[in-house]
Amino acid sequence: MTDLLLDQYQEIVGEDVINSLRQLAEPLSGAKVVHLNSTREGGGVAEILHRMIPLKEELGLEPSWEVIKGEGEFYQCTKYMHNTLQGNRFEIPQPLLKKYEETNEENAERLRGQLEEADFVFIHDPQPAPLLNLCPGRRGKWIWRCHIDVSRPYRPVWKYLRNFVEPYDASIWSLAEFAQPLHHPLYLIAPSIDPLSDKNQELSKKELQEVFKRSKLDPDRPIIVQVSRFDRFKDPLGVIQAFRLARQFVPLQLVLAGGGATDDPEGEEVLSEVQAAAMGDLDIHVMLLPSDAHRTINGLQRISDIVLQKSTKEGFGLTVTEAMWKGKPVIGGEVGGIRLQVHNHHTGFLVNTPEGAALRIRYLLTHRDKLEEMGRKAHQLVLENFLITRHVREYLTLMLAILRGTEERIELV
Ligand code: UDP
Repeated sequence: MTDLLLDQYQEIVGEDVINSLRQLAEPLSGAKVVHLNSTREGGGVAEILHRMIPLKEELGLEPSWEVIKGEGEFYQCTKYMHNTLQGNRFEIPQPLLKKYEETNEENAERLRGQLEEADFVFIHDPQPAPLLNLCPGRRGKWIWRCHIDVSRPYRPVWKYLRNFVEPYDASIWSLAEFAQPLHHPLYLIAPSIDPLSDKNQELSKKELQEVFKRSKLDPDRPIIVQVSRFDRFKDPLGVIQAFRLARQFVPLQLVLAGGGATDDPEGEEVLSEVQAAAMGDLDIHVMLLPSDAHRTINGLQRISDIVLQKSTKEGFGLTVTEAMWKGKPVIGGEVGGIRLQVHNHHTGFLVNTPEGAALRIRYLLTHRDKLEEMGRKAHQLVLENFLITRHVREYLTLMLAILRGTEERIELV
């Protein structure tokens, strides 16, 4: 097999898609592109960057990935920001905001040279947003990429953050309803998964059997799985409730698998709540996984009958995409990016309550033909819309659009 990523993707998405990527990348050859986020492990942004950097490199750009460094109070502050931007009403204490700004200043000292030199800088999410103002000698274009569900942010916090975001050359959002009024061009780009990654590639039967064994799951009874950081917006307690309601009617096992992210200080507390709720129930498997457990997660998604993502807020939900790629119908919260992927009654079901989720679990497990049909449609939807090749094509197009400014057409030949 070839070592070139592009050749491998070509087998999945076809020659035309790869040719158009090469064509779009040509005028950007040698462009220095820096991505900056807040963690190398855990969560969707890290997942995407791990896969996107090598692909951009193969396309002839010069990409790099930096991570903002901070301490306890900084992550406490940015977690509050995350929670309030996703709708919680809470005043972030001034000393924490001060720490946020100071941490960005310290990081600017470390990264300024590289950032000011870059042709494009993609700043992901609120954590490093103030860096633009701290790099006055910047020569490239700066883009703020928002991954979270800001459909109804707590206004005082958004207003505070907006001061840092407004001066960017452009911003990217996952969904139209997240986009906030700003004086620069706003782009909509959905995230993606990589079909070649350990998380998503096919696994052998033997490897799947090992996942069964290691997880102490019974291969003869249906399995439902939710993979998520232990975060309240992912509603793990609602999942347990749905499981218990459905189990009264169908035999069932539940896996709640997740690890922490280095930038998420609330994970342990939520995990304890989940463990307490599951205590003594032998059919609920709460698994705390290390950050590199990609093949295990892949296996759990593959051995499941149905995947749940019962979030109450969700920027996009890569876990939904991952499950759908594996031909699983997803029962997901009717929020944010989940609605881009779960087309109600076609690729899965959208739900608003544990009762609703339980009803759909029961329906799918007693209508196997529907379950399989939805799984097939789910896979097709991801193939056509949510693979990394589409994602990179849109990033390249955006970079060209920003470079060429007011030109109405971008000529590639
Ligand atoms: N993930 C993981 N280990 C975990 C929990 C999640 O590798 O313990 C991965 C998951 O497979 C997905 C990403 O982290 O690729 C989570 O992305 P998503 O968009 O679903 O949610 P986020 O964590 O960004 O809110």
